[in-house]
Amino acid sequence: MPKLIVANFKMHGTQAFIEDWFTNFPLEKALSKHVVVALPATYLASFRDYGLCLSGQNVSSMEKGAFTSQISAEMLKDCGASYCIIGHSEAREQLNESNESIHDKYLQLKDANIQSIFCVGESLEVKESKMTESHLEDQLSAFDNDSEGLIIAYEPIWAIGTGLVPTISEITEVVTNIKERFNNPVKVLYGGSVNASNAQNLLEKTNIDGLLVGGASLNPQEFAKIAQLC
Ligand code: PEP
Repeated sequence: MPKLIVANFKMHGTQAFIEDWFTNFPLEKALSKHVVVALPATYLASFRDYGLCLSGQNVSSMEKGAFTSQISAEMLKDCGASYCIIGHSEAREQLNESNESIHDKYLQLKDANIQSIFCVGESLEVKESKMTESHLEDQLSAFDNDSEGLIIAYEPIWAIGTGLVPTISEITEVVTNIKERFNNPVKVLYGGSVNASNAQNLLEKTNIDGLLVGGASLNPQEFAKIAQLC
């Protein structure tokens, strides 16, 4: 089964940069539905017809109303997004997001027929105190065991943008635990310092169902090398 490869542009790019990115992204058409690009929300509508699935990077936990600065699930759908990242560690930390509000975001997305990509991951402090399993369980506890169709991205915070990557056995163990927690199949992606040199090993030697790629996704040729592996 082809794996899912997600690019997370974070707060990078302009209209011209993204046009250039798509022009220089040499991917076979057959793979394009397994490649998702999480653009800044302001650019989603402009790139809805460029042949790749689009994702939001966050969404409001509310449906609509007096929530200045926020973007609803319906708005993302309107702009062409079929996926949306929720619970990214940067949003959890910088926007003070709770497990409860992240679950509300999931419900908003579900109502709008948008697939959530729900991020979980531990800090270095948690890892060093050997609390990874309970920390992840706390983040996952927003979802009951019978949840269906979840895509979870395991992104250790200490691996994001640092060049550090967990070992194959560390990733495999976490992914196994996540999959065993649920009664229905869930897809688990890995994210954190993935690049064209380490992606193949991660995809072949672990039980992940795909990758979430930050920094390396901004280079279209490098990201295409990763995407060709799915
Ligand atoms: C991310 O922040 O989602 C991410 C995976 O970043 P990077 O690939 O740059 O570590």
